[in-house]
Amino acid sequence: MQFERPEIIRPPSELRSYFLPLTSGCSNNTCTFCNYYFKSKLKIRDADEVKKEIDALALYKNYGIYSSSLGGLVFDWEGKPYWDEKRIFLQDGDALVYPYPKLKEVLRHLNEKLPNLERIAAYATPQDILRRSVDELKTLKELKLEILYTGLESGSDQVLQKVQKGVNTSQMIEAARKVKKSGITFSVTVILGLDGIEGSEEHAKATARVLSEMDPEYGAALTLTLVPGTPMYQDWKEGNFHPISPFQSLEELKLIIKDSNFTDCFFSSMHASNYWAIRGKLPQEKERMISELEEILTRRDPSLLRPEYLRGL
Ligand code: SF4
Repeated sequence: MQFERPEIIRPPSELRSYFLPLTSGCSNNTCTFCNYYFKSKLKIRDADEVKKEIDALALYKNYGIYSSSLGGLVFDWEGKPYWDEKRIFLQDGDALVYPYPKLKEVLRHLNEKLPNLERIAAYATPQDILRRSVDELKTLKELKLEILYTGLESGSDQVLQKVQKGVNTSQMIEAARKVKKSGITFSVTVILGLDGIEGSEEHAKATARVLSEMDPEYGAALTLTLVPGTPMYQDWKEGNFHPISPFQSLEELKLIIKDSNFTDCFFSSMHASNYWAIRGKLPQEKERMISELEEILTRRDPSLLRPEYLRGL
């Protein structure tokens, strides 16, 4: 069966990457808030097909030749004016699930055909990371896998269980330790509002605690968006889930920043789902970030917030 190229879902920082699919879907397709991968079937792309795409990419990059015989194989030449020719993002929801020997084979091929590449990135579930030894992760790092993105979502085990994340906070922390030891940069996202109004404060406090223990180089907050078709949306419609307000999301954000205890983390809420974008180094800029949020929270002026129609996923 032919592998179908997945839609591009990427971290904001991967705008300038070339998107190379190794898989489509996500191996942990149970998260009740996730509209992209919920119950989608994980598909693994044939390594030879991936290598053909790399060959075509190298041909194009090195000689400007677009091989029409590869029609449809390579991602949208016209639509990638942003590619900086230095970055590759491995799709899809958790490309680290790709069988390890094949993953090495693909990364070696990338290094051989595109020697000027600076970094390769991928989403990874904590389960994928835990399946790999530190030495295996180090090998991937040597092959330029420079950054992994994962979702902690919440530091509360109760919330993780409720949203069917399939992993607990101890496993999250263990995965983070492994990534750190390997030297791969780690970027971790959390979701504001994931436990609704009732669990808001505890969710924020627990998230600050666990995220600090994970101590990633990058931390990012997203705000929960309820999307039709997901179980969480259904819960809301049935009156069983009570979403927080935009200003409550900023209260959670403030609490996470205030309670955080990072070594050196670039923390942001730049994602389009958020009502207010803030960024800075933690702990260095903690006071500045908190007072910025306090000012918004004191003014309570809705016109200062990103309007609902401009929020993205
Ligand atoms: S692990 Fe991530 S990508 Fe996979 S279903 Fe959950 S939230 Fe979505």
